[in-house]
Amino acid sequence: MHNTSSDSDLTSLKLACPSCKKTVLWNDDFPHRPFCSDRCRLIDLGEWASENHRIAGDNLDINSEDEQHQ
Ligand SMILES: [Zn+2]
Repeated sequence: MHNTSSDSDLTSLKLACPSCKKTVLWNDDFPHRPFCSDRCRLIDLGEWASENHRIAGDNLDINSEDEQHQ
């Protein structure tokens, strides 16, 4: 019987870095997977955080504008 272990499946898994689309292999050569590097991981987290902050800031601006109009 051919027995496929989940371990060998994981080490052959390929994916693209969400930040720079570089090929990342799911093994110990890429400790920051799914990102290719710690730098790409921080870039992606930073973009998410700044986008979230911008949305929150817009909401605050709208609220304060409404108060001024009344
Ligand atoms: Zn990358």
